[in-house]
Amino acid sequence: MNPENASEKVYGLDKNVYKRFPEHMNCLFRSRLDPTFEYYQQTIRTNMKKHLASGEDGYSRFDLALNVAAWTVDMHMPFSFEWNPQLDAHEHMPLDLLDQPTEDSTPEENTHYVKKAALYCGASEVGITRINEKWLYSSTARPYQNASKDNYPPIKLPQDVTNAIVIGVEMEPNGVKCAPTFLELASTGLAYSKMTYLIAMIAQFIRALGYKGIPSGNDVGLSIPLAIDAGLGALGRNGLLINKNYGARFRLCKVFTNMPLSTDTPDFSFISRINKFCSSCKACATACDSGAISTADEPDGIAKCPSNNPGVTKKWYVNQDLCYKIWVEHSSDCGKCIQACPFSKALAPITAREFWKTE
Ligand code: SF4
Ligand code: SF4
Repeated sequence: MNPENASEKVYGLDKNVYKRFPEHMNCLFRSRLDPTFEYYQQTIRTNMKKHLASGEDGYSRFDLALNVAAWTVDMHMPFSFEWNPQLDAHEHMPLDLLDQPTEDSTPEENTHYVKKAALYCGASEVGITRINEKWLYSSTARPYQNASKDNYPPIKLPQDVTNAIVIGVEMEPNGVKCAPTFLELASTGLAYSKMTYLIAMIAQFIRALGYKGIPSGNDVGLSIPLAIDAGLGALGRNGLLINKNYGARFRLCKVFTNMPLSTDTPDFSFISRINKFCSSCKACATACDSGAISTADEPDGIAKCPSNNPGVTKKWYVNQDLCYKIWVEHSSDCGKCIQACPFSKALAPITAREFWKTE
């Protein structure tokens, strides 16, 4: 099968219904921008002081401080998400080489070096796919891409940028075992900080070879279908990518490029295994306090809220609006559906005291 169409087939895309999704309809942006959203202007910070005062396990000032520390690079590295940064004399290379791509290397050789560089810089896994445009957002909601409340510019990659390097980062397991507390949020933040420096470094690696490198965290396009196309896993009932080695404890980012690369193929046997397993498992749905995860035996393909993009027939849609409610209530991105998934290998919960004693 042509890799461009792999995740379309896996998802059972209804081409009469499915449209590229505008990023500002995602529940995180709706909480900031949409006054009709029930949790408008409520965030993970809304109930933090209440949790701090409660004495609950996983909500101490030390747990909160670790969370703040873990997110630091993601929050404070503006260079990371720039599409066309001006490289200058501080780069450790002769700048005229930037106009001279490595045209004597083959796509296979380029792929070898890109993957090795990503693993060297700290990626847990890397896969490569051609970009299926359907998985790009139709428009951006990011201020650094000139979006504002009244203006969401369309997403358009340069025409020659046809490859996506999809990078997976393992979430630190002990924080995940503390879901849904500040310590779980710290594990998420640590993975985001790693994603942020990884996309910055791999985009620079590619630019230093004379090609375009466009970094992307959760912005620009949907990471999960790109990751499926790149052979990194399968879609689970919990709406997350299930990776063979890390389960749902796996965060995704990508770098888009015009560098000639050879692509990976989707892991159809693992996809088929997850589809069967999720039909009967339902551990994530049982663990979820909000009822956001479907308990239907088979994927019903029914979008549940305005934050879902309809037109995907073979999917258990997760009600992201209900999930967001729990984020606000728990002052954390929860993660109980990550912890409960047997593929995540983080099944035994631990206390904060145990967390701080782990090595
Ligand atoms: S993060 Fe929590 S609330 Fe959201 S779907 Fe997972 S278990 Fe449910
Ligand atoms: S917990 Fe079970 S049902 Fe949920 S994603 Fe993991 S394997 Fe699938």
